[in-house]
Amino acid sequence: MAKVRLERITRQFVRSNATRETSNAGIADITFEVPDGAFWVLVGPSGCGKSTILRTIAGLEAATSGDLYIGDRLVNQIPARQRDVAMVFQNYALYPHMTVAENLAFGLQMRRVDAKATQERVETVAQMLAIDHLLDRKPGQLSGGQQQRVALGRAIARQPQVFLLDEPLSNLDAQLRDETRAELKRLHQQVGITTIYVTHDQVEAMTLADQIVVLDQGRIQQIGAPQTIYAQPANRMIATFLGSPPMNILSAVYDGTAFQINGQTVPCSELLRDHLQPIAGRLYDLGVRPEHVHITPDTGHLTVEISVVEPLGREVAVRANVPATERSPQQAIAFQCHPTQCPHVGDRLLLGLDFDQLFAFDRETGDTVY
Ligand code: ATP
Repeated sequence: MAKVRLERITRQFVRSNATRETSNAGIADITFEVPDGAFWVLVGPSGCGKSTILRTIAGLEAATSGDLYIGDRLVNQIPARQRDVAMVFQNYALYPHMTVAENLAFGLQMRRVDAKATQERVETVAQMLAIDHLLDRKPGQLSGGQQQRVALGRAIARQPQVFLLDEPLSNLDAQLRDETRAELKRLHQQVGITTIYVTHDQVEAMTLADQIVVLDQGRIQQIGAPQTIYAQPANRMIATFLGSPPMNILSAVYDGTAFQINGQTVPCSELLRDHLQPIAGRLYDLGVRPEHVHITPDTGHLTVEISVVEPLGREVAVRANVPATERSPQQAIAFQCHPTQCPHVGDRLLLGLDFDQLFAFDRETGDTVY
């Protein structure tokens, strides 16, 4: 096991056409340290630089500037195969002509581990991943989930210092993905190898990570424990990225005592008033998660018109619109309710927002004001 430290890592990709060359920062100024044995998850929208960071750590991509340490060793100039990391991609790239056992053994043979130790290691890993009954099969005779387990097993068998996993579950169907995710968590608890995991799936990020690194446009937006990032997002991008369904964002004005949303006055608690004073009178983005919006006819504050109702069994997912006014277009808001409260499309009703759970974001910068 080893810690992994990135110090101001930048990777620029140069794009050239007939007339000019432009430099496009794939990732910029990335600094973080993953402690020994930790499980960190890199998340962010497509193109934010997740894979580039992982590939740079693996040595498949050379940093334009910055320093990378694995353990206490500076590895900038160390080739990929000498970095002692194992990377698993979403397309697992097993050797099709080899059996599962041969695939698992391959990395060990390359390192000249003796035959007996290799066999023992293959058996242990196969049992750990419940693929011991598949050892004689070839990858073409396995399901997607089984192939993915073999790919993980091949990485585990090598006992690397660091695991780098790039969306390893994205080719699996929903049920298998859930199972394999739980399996991965258990495996990490068992073998404790430092793991850096890339995903754009926020459920994977929330459930697997000790710490999450949120990226956008090649830069770190926030690093923190999943619950901390969920409860205290540093900006609107993070707030709307983590959480399913995502946080609602409503254009609002705080008038010094209450919110004005499309001409409706929504009262505000004493506590919030102090925090919102700096933005009084300005248009800003009010954030509220769907779980903090309720159908509460007695204490409702915001009149909406129901547009979509989706029964999901245990709960109902509802979308509604805050009606337009002459000055403001209609605004969408999503929430969930109990099936016994299920409204109908076209209903007009009052919603209550949990005051102590509201966020305010600067409209221009997206930074969290409150
Ligand atoms: P996804 O979730 O879609 O896989 P990602 O977050 O992993 O995306 P990267 O693949 O790391 O993103 O890409 C980051 C940025 O660098 C993108 O703008 C991408 O277009 C650019 N990029 C990546 N590889 C190259 C390359 N070989 N040449 C030029 N630009 C590249």
